[in-house]
Amino acid sequence: MVKYQRIVTKLLEENTYVIFNEKNDCVIIDPGFGFELIDSFIQSKNLSPIAILATHGHFDHLAGAADLIDKYNLPLYVCDKDKLVVDNFDRAAGYWGVEARKPTVSHWIDSTDKQLTIGDFSFSIIFNPGHSPGCISFIISNLIFCGDLIFKGSIGRTDLPLSSPRDMATSLKFFVNSFTSDHALLTGHGEETTLYGELKTNPYLMKYEK
Ligand SMILES: [Zn+2]
Ligand SMILES: [Zn+2]
Repeated sequence: MVKYQRIVTKLLEENTYVIFNEKNDCVIIDPGFGFELIDSFIQSKNLSPIAILATHGHFDHLAGAADLIDKYNLPLYVCDKDKLVVDNFDRAAGYWGVEARKPTVSHWIDSTDKQLTIGDFSFSIIFNPGHSPGCISFIISNLIFCGDLIFKGSIGRTDLPLSSPRDMATSLKFFVNSFTSDHALLTGHGEETTLYGELKTNPYLMKYEK
């Protein structure tokens, strides 16, 4: 049984998630701009980080990665379709006017991969481009970490330089028809929600349900 903690980090109130098991191993998803905040949670629970996963390569979801990698010597997994997005890290840091070092991506996830096993954690992967070319969701038990694909009552932006509204529509259609049960949606920004709830209330999603 995995547990998770949502930590809201500062740049754009991005959600960092720490997933941990009974062995106290943990995986960090989307470490945002707030290394101290993330690390103090890890230490308070006596967790051993074993990897960092990113739902996509945007700066706000990777700003805390380099410091975590330095401290814990962690592999970092990002979809290979977001190489260009990660390459823009320093430019994004300059744009936001914050000090953050570009992290080294040790593992580029192939967009056709369906599964990712890290230690005792076994994730299913859904490739859902649109917000960026390399957006992926990580699914473990009934938890979906969907990054900036879907938010409570909304969806991710598709007006950014490497976004594709057409890919976003395809991804959403596939996504909302991929799950049958009441999965929790752990989004890249904002409060957590459920796929069931969003399909009932989110106008950006309702139209895609078969
Ligand atoms: Zn994003
Ligand atoms: Zn974001």
